[in-house]
Amino acid sequence: MSDNPVPFLDLVAPHRELENDLVEAFRQAVRSAAFVGGAEVEGFEREFAEFCGSKFCVGVANGTDAVRFALMASGVGPGDAVVTVAHTFIATVEAISQAGAETEFVDIDERTYCMSPAALDEYLEGCAKDPGTGRPLGRRTGKPIKAVLPVHLYGQAADMDAILAVADRYGLIVVEDACQAHGAEYKSADGKWRRAGTFGKAAAFSFYPGKNLGSCGEGGAVTTDDEQVAKTIKMLREHGQAQKYYHDLEGYNGRLHAIQAAFLRVKLRKLPEWNAGRYAAARRYGEMLAGVPGVIVPHEPENTRPVYHLYVIRTKDRDALGEYLKARKVFTGLHYPVPLHLQKCYAGWGYAKGSLPVTEAVASSIVSLPMFPTLTAEQQQRTVDAVADFVAR
Ligand SMILES: *Cc1c(COP(=O)(O)O)cnc(C)c1O
Repeated sequence: MSDNPVPFLDLVAPHRELENDLVEAFRQAVRSAAFVGGAEVEGFEREFAEFCGSKFCVGVANGTDAVRFALMASGVGPGDAVVTVAHTFIATVEAISQAGAETEFVDIDERTYCMSPAALDEYLEGCAKDPGTGRPLGRRTGKPIKAVLPVHLYGQAADMDAILAVADRYGLIVVEDACQAHGAEYKSADGKWRRAGTFGKAAAFSFYPGKNLGSCGEGGAVTTDDEQVAKTIKMLREHGQAQKYYHDLEGYNGRLHAIQAAFLRVKLRKLPEWNAGRYAAARRYGEMLAGVPGVIVPHEPENTRPVYHLYVIRTKDRDALGEYLKARKVFTGLHYPVPLHLQKCYAGWGYAKGSLPVTEAVASSIVSLPMFPTLTAEQQQRTVDAVADFVAR
């Protein structure tokens, strides 16, 4: 067996494979000199909407803008509160703040690491009600809650049937953060399999290079079945105009670049194969790790088909494990070491340690193992051997 390092993520291999097509896409873009908007952006929007199974897709500058615009176009703004999770990348919550709204956290499910519908229900049940509208008032902020923002973390769809049912009972809209879940599937009680990005009023995707579908720079998109939401996002991304120089609202410079759209069209064709490669690698990890004591592997509810943006295990002594693996040239990640409610930047929100017990227990015991579509069985065996040696040491 070789002792080449096992990278956490290999971005070189997929780009080498597509190099000719990407360079050709770039050449076409330079020749047409269409850099903002135009046929490539519209083409990608059509193809990505079709991939997800949504009616509309609007390309935007990045995933953070996608979450912000999805919230704003769904009617969330200053004076509103949004319920989300603290076990996510900070952009989820930055986008809520940037939309002018306030964040209320609920705990996650111990097995899927996504929003717990039970915790959401219990949280909303305990909220005071706005006497005028009957809407629940955020327990931290006292602001009327408008929306629920579940995150399909690590490529695993949140339990959308249950979340939608709870939200519906309280008259709340649902916006999905699907930034880590391009192609993740979930089977509803009606027996239909659907992809992440088709459950809420709108859903946000990121095309940051390390995501399952990444641009060669920055990019994002919102999917929705609501034509008005799609129209509003098109205005928000373009200075609030539907017609040039007529600004119906104050917007942003938040467009998807045409060159990135052209790159994304090339890469979208490979996404099913890449997701299948990740899935196969996850299966192999599951088998290889089955005999290793003290390691909790990802849980896959039978009505979901995750796309394994990350392969996250739980163990004791995860910091020492990370160091040990690094010494064996196996590189890992931590997603995420400090939950958002305990971050310095949100200290003013007043969440104490212990306020989200499942989130905190998970955040202190997770490690992300190497995961990418071309990860080989040999690289995985070296990873798992090192984990097993650490556990047995
Ligand atoms: C990556 C990510 C974002 C933000 O995407 P950017 O393109 O980096 O702005 C938002 N939410 C989650 C969960 C993410 O992983």
